[in-house]
Amino acid sequence: MKRSTVLTAIAGLVLAGPGVARAAQVTHSDEEWRKLLPAESYEVLRHAGTERPFSSPLDDEKRPGTYACGACNLPLFSSKTKYDSGSGWPSFWAPLPNAVVTKSDTSLLMVRDEVRCRRCDSHLGHVFDDGPKPTGLRYCMNGVALRFRPGRAA
Ligand SMILES: [Zn+2]
Repeated sequence: MKRSTVLTAIAGLVLAGPGVARAAQVTHSDEEWRKLLPAESYEVLRHAGTERPFSSPLDDEKRPGTYACGACNLPLFSSKTKYDSGSGWPSFWAPLPNAVVTKSDTSLLMVRDEVRCRRCDSHLGHVFDDGPKPTGLRYCMNGVALRFRPGRAA
């Protein structure tokens, strides 16, 4: 085997760690996601991008309703747990049951807990421990990763 082939094989093994190997229930190729989603949502959901703070209309959204995954429509957050964190991103102190998964993210030289959709494994944002009661958590979400459905809060 050529040296470059060996290195590629090793990189493949490292990338297919436990987090990546977890099977998503809604799957598309990267190319399919790119066609399915608006450009800014695709960048955040599928490539862990971050929208500019105070850029999302959902940051100021105060109506009752449900926030669903921008990629697969799974309901993720209720308006009942939304609060104004002042961060410029839509913030919640708890997700809906069985809606999201978290994993350690060491990019940007920080250890943060990344929040992903449980069903399609899309990136949503991060969770921090400086939120309000009762959980003390702050789910800091990208508005473009969510779809708001006004109505009765879940
Ligand atoms: Zn999803």
